[in-house]
Amino acid sequence: MRWSGQELGVERDDALPGLARLNNLVRSVQTPEFAGLTFHEVLAKSALNHVPGASKALPFGWTINPYRGCSHQCVFCFARQTHTYLDLDAGRDFDTQIVVKVNLVEVLERELARPGWQRPNVALGTNTDPYQRAEGRYRLMPGIIAALAASGTPLSILTKGTLLRRDIPLLQAAAERVPVETAMSIAVYDDELQRSIEPGAPSTAARLATVKAVREAGLPCAVFLMPVLPYLTDSRAHLERAIGTIADAGATSVAYSALHLRPGAKEWFAAWLARTHPELVPRYRALYGSGAYAPKGYRRQLAARIRPLLRAHGLDRPRLDPTTGTPGAHPRPGTAGMGALASELSPAAAAALQPTLF
Ligand code: SF4
Repeated sequence: MRWSGQELGVERDDALPGLARLNNLVRSVQTPEFAGLTFHEVLAKSALNHVPGASKALPFGWTINPYRGCSHQCVFCFARQTHTYLDLDAGRDFDTQIVVKVNLVEVLERELARPGWQRPNVALGTNTDPYQRAEGRYRLMPGIIAALAASGTPLSILTKGTLLRRDIPLLQAAAERVPVETAMSIAVYDDELQRSIEPGAPSTAARLATVKAVREAGLPCAVFLMPVLPYLTDSRAHLERAIGTIADAGATSVAYSALHLRPGAKEWFAAWLARTHPELVPRYRALYGSGAYAPKGYRRQLAARIRPLLRAHGLDRPRLDPTTGTPGAHPRPGTAGMGALASELSPAAAAALQPTLF
């Protein structure tokens, strides 16, 4: 960890090594309201990122990532490795050293005004969570939503953050102009396990309540039951509880995928498993010893367990809005957006969508 000499709210003009390579550091901030977190405010040069190789499975070609690092601190988070590009580590630094692109809205407005902008769907939450705790302080999302809607650009938001509720009125207004989709990632329906493996994220109950609130506001909201954790959350009883409560919350659809463990996340997850569930270490070694993805056989068994539950709860296909006959009040014409996901995501698609979905 190469950050040192941080002071409360004091501006720094000496860019630190990793961030100097990436972007312009304005200052590093710690405040009592966000104890344990350091926000590194940077000036972004661009806001819209092109996703190479977007496919039908991933109905977006562009993303916006207001933050790097994530205070939700999910042990299995795939984005961990990206923190090492900043000379920060993929473990505790990823959880607590949050890079904030403070000028993002201004840069975005400029980019959206370019004559060549074709208004493809833009996804938020495909790298780190846009409604993580920092958003309570920096409030970047309202400006982003408003700028996208004003430019006629459809948007999708994927999150674990209950702060999404704050922006429901804005999303409703945006949905009057452009297609808007939301998805909440909720993987663990056991409170003790959830607190252990996603220690900085809102509780499962709070996320389900957010899904309900979004649906009551007339917006589509999918639930990503991801990652399913082998031998921890893949029992019939856990999956029944999960899918039953997702259905009760009124989710538009459900997508699921078994855990993937890429470098960065793999080491952090292995240490957590050895600490909390040492008896499972050999079984995980058998599944993930030679790769990042759960083996096909495991995924087949998982599908056989989940599909009947989705069918039983009417979640094997997107729920339709009775007034429009579509998955949401404002679906995106001609595309299979998040409202249409009601099945297992292939490992490649799930990995590419990573990591806020998980
Ligand atoms: S999985 Fe998503 S919510 Fe969890 S730490 Fe990573 S980016 Fe944040």
